[in-house]
Amino acid sequence: MTEILEAKPITASIKNDIKQKILEARESGISPAMAIVRIGKDPASEFYFNAKLKRASEFGVETRALTLDENVDAEEVDGYIRELASDRNIHGIIVEAPVPSHLDYKHIVNGIPWYKDIDGATYESLGRLMSGEDCLVAATPLAVMEYLRHIGLEPGSLVAVINRTITVGRPLSQLLLNASYSPVVCHSKTRNLKEICQKSDAIVVAAGRPGFLTRDMAGPHSIVIDVGINSVNGKIKGDADFESLNSYVRMITPVPGGVGSLTSLIIFANLMLAIQYQNNRASEA
Ligand code: NAP
Repeated sequence: MTEILEAKPITASIKNDIKQKILEARESGISPAMAIVRIGKDPASEFYFNAKLKRASEFGVETRALTLDENVDAEEVDGYIRELASDRNIHGIIVEAPVPSHLDYKHIVNGIPWYKDIDGATYESLGRLMSGEDCLVAATPLAVMEYLRHIGLEPGSLVAVINRTITVGRPLSQLLLNASYSPVVCHSKTRNLKEICQKSDAIVVAAGRPGFLTRDMAGPHSIVIDVGINSVNGKIKGDADFESLNSYVRMITPVPGGVGSLTSLIIFANLMLAIQYQNNRASEA
């Protein structure tokens, strides 16, 4: 019998934790605040921008929404990021992707100091993650880790990760290593993917292809964490073939209602961690 790992019990506990930390911050005279920078009119960037604003208002987190013109020049954007970076009343900064083609997203985000980088997008954040130092990490890999914690997957377990991108697979592989799991990072050139998946205790699938992970790649012992979000005929589908895996594998996360439900919350958990890092820095100065 497959256990369907709905996100609800995990989201409830993350929400409580965030609310408690916001309360504690307010009691110590800090009003948690984040800046969200959106450049141009890309619809995906607008969707995520609005979703964050909505979530921020639910938590009562102050947001400085900076909507910049499509044709804004690179130096002006750098100037805004510098201002936000040095503003003591702003604790976290996010730049929505994609940005217009005349701008370089990587360059823009790398102007954010690591202790305000609540999207875990800068090179410094990634380097800190790799070396095991205090850092902020992207929401999607953290959401996967929340699931593994929730399940209580034993350290030493073999975890196949089908994705090697800088936003999902690479930070996730570091988080897995830091938590003493044994990650096997897979990609489009990986040989014997099916065998690797079958042998793994958990399979994290983020191939960006609906229904990619099929029953023949798993076993009755498998825990499937589906990161995929694909729109198929107007419906949201994951990267795992839920219909064929359900009733066969040990556990599976649903889409929607799984990993994706955690990510918008984790941004706020990151904001509260950012405040802690900034407090630590202030007391060390
Ligand atoms: P992406 O940039 O297209 O990366 C896909 C990854 O899967 C690449 O590493 C690719 O390998 C690998 N891959 C593709 N086909 C493969 C195959 N046949 N065998 C083995 N590996 C294969 O996609 P992404 O932006 O990382 O997103 C991946 C999925 O996660 C999408 O469905 C996206 O919507 C979803 N997502 C969800 C969240 C969330 O919050 N839940 C957040 C971000 C993304 P190569 O590197 O060799 O090309």
